[in-house]
Amino acid sequence: MPSLSNNLEILHVRRGLMLVLSSPSGAGKTTLTRMLLQERSLDLSLSISVTTRPRRVSEAEGVHYHFIDKATFEAMRSAGDMLESAQVHGNFYGTPRAPVETVLAQGRDVLFDIDYQGTQQLREKAKADVVTIFILPPSMAELRKRLQRRAEDSHEVIETRLENARHELERWKVYDYVLVNDDLDRTFRDVQAILAAERLKVLRRWAHVEHIVNNLLAEH
Ligand code: ADP
Ligand code: 5GP
Repeated sequence: MPSLSNNLEILHVRRGLMLVLSSPSGAGKTTLTRMLLQERSLDLSLSISVTTRPRRVSEAEGVHYHFIDKATFEAMRSAGDMLESAQVHGNFYGTPRAPVETVLAQGRDVLFDIDYQGTQQLREKAKADVVTIFILPPSMAELRKRLQRRAEDSHEVIETRLENARHELERWKVYDYVLVNDDLDRTFRDVQAILAAERLKVLRRWAHVEHIVNNLLAEH
């Protein structure tokens, strides 16, 4: 993946990072994603996945997902057009490669709402550039309430998602940060704090810091 190579840091003040939000369905990652994107000063760009899942009433093509059929999904995957892909709750999901590489090459950050399988695949490809956050619900009872309140999935789909949540929760150890999304504003502040600190990491600003230090040393 050429755009993830080390020479990125020479071209830009900071190399772009990939911020991954994962959680069991209903814990709040879509809500947090929306809040992060609305905060324009954060300059985050969302990776829009492809999925074979049916579109929800509230969703728009090209905004929340690109809704595609299984044959198109398979064709993209075998052409190497996806950065990662996985089967979740019986449907296929994947991250188109090209838009992510374009944003990273500009030294900007990309936000991902993907599951633990996709997170691990991204990590294997570009460990240093991936920052991962796992969102927990405060309780299973509250998770059920949130899924019901969202009122976008059938009873059967909600039950499947709650059952799958148990397996997803066990994956918390592969994440860099784990947040309990009890108070939404608090969680939002924590995500922003993580992003701010990760952006300041010296590995992402290597050439810039080197330049500053060289100037300091050259001063008389
Ligand atoms: P996910 O994307 O993880 O499936 P959503 O962001 O769609 O979850 O959230 C599920 C529901 O829970 C939505 O109705 C949302 O408004 C609500 N919700 C999200 N975070 C909180 C929170 N901290 N407290 C109460 N309700 C929340
Ligand atoms: P939903 O159907 O509720 O939109 O998403 C179901 C699950 O699929 C969520 O855990 C979400 O993070 C995950 N998901 C969405 N897009 C992708 C993707 O491109 N790749 C992977 N691996 N998971 C995804």
